[in-house]
Amino acid sequence: MKINKGRRWPVWKLMIEAVWIILLAAILLGSGALTVEGSDIAISNLEPEIGRLIVVWAHGDLAEGEIIINEESFPFRADGERAVALIPISYWWNPGSYTLTVVDRQGRTWTKEEIRIQKADFDESYLTVDEEQEELVRPTDPERQERQRKDRELVARARAESRRERLWDSAFIWPLEGRITTDFGATRYHNNELANRHNGIDIAAPVGTPVAASNTGEVTLAADLLATGKTIIIDHGWNIYSSYLHLSELKVEVGDKVEQGQEIGLVGATGFATGPHLHWSLSYNRIFLDPRDFVELEL
Ligand SMILES: [Zn+2]
Repeated sequence: MKINKGRRWPVWKLMIEAVWIILLAAILLGSGALTVEGSDIAISNLEPEIGRLIVVWAHGDLAEGEIIINEESFPFRADGERAVALIPISYWWNPGSYTLTVVDRQGRTWTKEEIRIQKADFDESYLTVDEEQEELVRPTDPERQERQRKDRELVARARAESRRERLWDSAFIWPLEGRITTDFGATRYHNNELANRHNGIDIAAPVGTPVAASNTGEVTLAADLLATGKTIIIDHGWNIYSSYLHLSELKVEVGDKVEQGQEIGLVGATGFATGPHLHWSLSYNRIFLDPRDFVELEL
């Protein structure tokens, strides 16, 4: 009697097969690719540091869906054939494991993925602040307090209603060239007291150096504010805003449409500034993120 051994796989072959499957799974997980009922999801970074932007790409079916992470919801947006969701990892989040859940437009929860958020190696910056400067940041004078309240309202209004469509079609650019004096996320100490985190990048440049719009958008604020001096905020759509502080001159007005690279103002040292520089920041959903992530944002 002849036994057909060809139909049975020897153990070593099964083991090789198993190794292959594990390797494939590791590659897929490593690149942040998963499958939601037939549609692939790609995540730009599964181990981001705090203060960074994560981009999630999915099939167009998910365009009206959302992502939930850390009890916050971020929408998927239609972008050509695909759906894209941006997830801002605030520098106030605690490092650790977070579950990322994909929800489709019918509210069905489909996929869960673990995002391991890392701590960031932010600089520490110490400033010696005299009384006059302190009055700009934390005024005691009632008139100045009233002005600060109005300034905050203006800034909040400038970031309140972003255009639904994105107004740009290429990655963001640096607004000028210069030496970085205080980087994004730096822990700020004013007279040795923990003040805040630095929500943008300070770029030193001589007074009068032209400042370019990081990307195409619409000006939602162009005003002289107490703490930040002459300030511009641009709405780029999708709840992304760029801001330019301490300018010596404003070259745009609220409502102006600006092109990427267009001169919008000149470097100065207005407001609370120890020397001429541009404070440049980018926010998504009112969360400030490392502007470099927008410079590298290819959508
Ligand atoms: Zn700054």
